[in-house]
Amino acid sequence: MKRDYYEILGVTRDADTQRIKKAYRALARRLHPDVNGHDPDAEEKFKEATEAYEVLSDPEKRRIYDAYGHAGLRGSGAAGAGGFGGFTDIADIFETFFGGDLFGGARGGRPRGPAPGDDLAVEIEIELEEAAFGVKKDVEVALLDTCPECGGAGSKDPSSIRTCPECGGSGRVRTVRRTAFGQFVQTGTCAVCRGLGEMVVEPCPVCQGAGRAPRRKVLTVDVPAGIANGQRIRLSGEGGAGERGGRPGDLYVHVSVAPHPHFERQGDDLYYRLDLTMVQAALGARVSLPTLDGEEEVEFAPGTQPGEVKVLRGRGVPHLRGGGRGDMHVLVNVMIPRNLNDHQREILQELDECCGMEHYNGRPEGVFHRLKSFFTG
Ligand SMILES: [Zn+2]
Ligand SMILES: [Zn+2]
Repeated sequence: MKRDYYEILGVTRDADTQRIKKAYRALARRLHPDVNGHDPDAEEKFKEATEAYEVLSDPEKRRIYDAYGHAGLRGSGAAGAGGFGGFTDIADIFETFFGGDLFGGARGGRPRGPAPGDDLAVEIEIELEEAAFGVKKDVEVALLDTCPECGGAGSKDPSSIRTCPECGGSGRVRTVRRTAFGQFVQTGTCAVCRGLGEMVVEPCPVCQGAGRAPRRKVLTVDVPAGIANGQRIRLSGEGGAGERGGRPGDLYVHVSVAPHPHFERQGDDLYYRLDLTMVQAALGARVSLPTLDGEEEVEFAPGTQPGEVKVLRGRGVPHLRGGGRGDMHVLVNVMIPRNLNDHQREILQELDECCGMEHYNGRPEGVFHRLKSFFTG
C-alpha cells in the first residue's frame, strides 16, 4: 500500500509550495543515504519522501494526484514504479533542489518520455583458438526485462489503460507564453503521461504498471572469428527492457582472451619459439610444430641459426573484418648441451678441431637485430 504523499511529508492538504519545500528539505537532510551510512530503511524513506515531494511540488502533478490519487500518476514516472529507476529521479531532484550533483558525474536534465532500458555489461574469457575461429558462449545477465505478467503493457486488463486526461492521448501539450515580444506557442511532451498518451488505472501487480520486472536470462553470444583481447561486442536491444514504450538498452560483452601456452599474439600474427638442438640446427631437421590448425611438419635447412625466423603464411589469426589470416612467426632457439661426460666432450672437441672457422661464416645479417625486436616487442 502506498502512503499518502501529504502524510509522508507531514503537511496538510492545503499546504503551499513553500511549506512543502521546507518539509521535504528537512526530511531529506535527515534521511539522505550519505548521512545514514546507506541504511536501507532510511534510503527507502528518502525515496518515498522524494517521490512525494516530486509530485506535490509540481502544480500539474499535484492537481492530478488530488483528483485521481496514486492511480492518476501511474505511468507518469512520478509514482516511481517499485523503486526501479527511482534513483535517476532522485538525482534530478537533488540537483535542482540543493544545487549539487548527488551521484557524481555531469548530467544534463533527464529527457521526458518513458525511461529507456538499462545498458548492461558482462565479461567473458575465451581461449585463443576460440578467439581465432569464433565461438558461441552463453552468458547469464540479471536485468529488468519485459514483465511476464502483463507483457509490458502495464496492466493485464486493457480497459484499465485509459487515455491521458491531460493531453487527450496525443502525448503532446501546447503551452502559450506571453512575453514582452509577443505570444509564443510551445509544444512539448505531456508531463503527466510523459508522451505515452495513456495512464494505467489498475496496474499489473508484478510490475506496478511499469511494464518490466527483474529476472535473469541466458543469452548466447556469437563471438566473431578474429576478436582480440579487450574488445567488446554490442548486442543492440539485448539490455534491459524500457519502461512502457521506452527503447530497450544494449548488452556489452567484454572479451578477454586467456594467455596461450605456446603462442604470443600481436595483431593477427602469432609468434612461436621453437627449440632446436645444436645438432638439428647444424644438420637440418624436419620438426612437428603446433599451429592453430593442428600439428604441422616444418623443414629447417642445415645451418639454421639461432634467431632465424620462419614465417608460416596464413597460419595466424583470421582477420576480424574481411577474409585472410595473419602469419605465424617461428623463432628459432638453438639449445647448447650441458653436463657433458668425457666421451661427449671428446666428440665435440674432435669436431671443433676439424671444423674450421669457414663453417661458421655466412651468418645472415640482422639476426641479432631481429631477435632483439622480437623480445622487446
Ligand atoms: Zn506487469
Ligand atoms: Zn498525457
